[in-house]
Amino acid sequence: RSSITAPAGGTIFARMTQLATETGAVNLGQGFPDSDGPATVRDTAIEAINGGHNQYPPARGTGELLAAIARHQQRWYGIELDPASEILVTTGATEAIAASVLSLVSPGDEVVMFEPYYDSYAAMVERAGGVRRTVPLRFPDFAVDEAALEAAFSERTAVVLLNTPHNPTGKVFTREELAFIGELATRHDAIVMCDEVYEHLAFAPHEHVPMATLPGMAERTLTFGSGGKTFNTTGWKIGWVTGPADLVAVVNGAKQYVTFGTGTPLQLGIASGLEMSDDFFTGLREDMALRRDVLADGLRAAGFDVVVPQGGYFVLADAAPHGVTDAEQYALELPEAAGVVAVPASVFCDDAEASGMASVMRFAFCKKRSTIDEAVTRLVDTY
Ligand code: PMP
Ligand code: GLN
Repeated sequence: RSSITAPAGGTIFARMTQLATETGAVNLGQGFPDSDGPATVRDTAIEAINGGHNQYPPARGTGELLAAIARHQQRWYGIELDPASEILVTTGATEAIAASVLSLVSPGDEVVMFEPYYDSYAAMVERAGGVRRTVPLRFPDFAVDEAALEAAFSERTAVVLLNTPHNPTGKVFTREELAFIGELATRHDAIVMCDEVYEHLAFAPHEHVPMATLPGMAERTLTFGSGGKTFNTTGWKIGWVTGPADLVAVVNGAKQYVTFGTGTPLQLGIASGLEMSDDFFTGLREDMALRRDVLADGLRAAGFDVVVPQGGYFVLADAAPHGVTDAEQYALELPEAAGVVAVPASVFCDDAEASGMASVMRFAFCKKRSTIDEAVTRLVDTY
């Protein structure tokens, strides 16, 4: 049973994609699109490669991408950033998370986070010698339990690590929820790390609110972004950290010795994407909301208990109506049984029962319509 979560076997995402390849199942497991994003982004990178932009970038990022990130944060959120000191380009949001946690969490420090959580949070906090204090977001409404959250803080709290829109629940945190979290962080003088990689995938009427836009929060908040989710370039691994200069400098202290810098021509491609018109971003959001609806309706038709996500790439569906009690076991059987791969949501939890995730599966909808339709047909035929 532990074989699908054991780090030696690869992360849950790598394992499930391997299972899909081996079995020929439709892969709604690992969250990556199966089609290309905007031509501008790809063409800019290709021109950069052919135009001689093939050497190390400046360690903090190319001037083009730093300026584009600053303009993007200004345009969408009214956040003013100094490109030279308040932005750091990283190797995906994954390195943003790793470098931030490794540089700001000391042995014995406590990190408050919600569960289910993105897998690398727990791995990095453990590597840093920190202790995670998790608060469940309970299926199916994922409400913030204010008393439990307050109780998770202590005088050892160094960091609050959160994610909105949230993987895997699809929850988009409201301004009120963020204000409550921010107030607790401020009271305990904790740094907030807010993973906003799905920032352009909050579906109407839900709106993405960056933590750094709340009163008083910019000075203690590091925000993580990624080009992968917005431009269908998950394999490019271009991400970033933004925040106050002193914190960004500390994160750079770790980052400069992990990778130094990342993919010069790819940075230029992502920079061109961030400069695209509002219509592109609106279109992306609307298009993804339609795919979400197709997958959510299909899973419901196949007998799952479905929660329609407010944002992100994934639908959570409870397989309990099919007699499932153990999502990890079910994830191993589903490819043979139905020809579909999904990720067990229980692996993102310390206590799957506490968040009601024991029999819940995560299905990705960042896929072509034909891929989603095929998966739905197979599931409906099976059940
Ligand atoms: N944070 C969350 C919540 C994610 O879902 C992902 C990957 N999908 C990442 C971070 C990692 O992003 P990147 O691929 O840019 O490293
Ligand atoms: N973020 C992607 C997901 O949640 C996976 C990224 C990875 O494979 N590390 O599916």
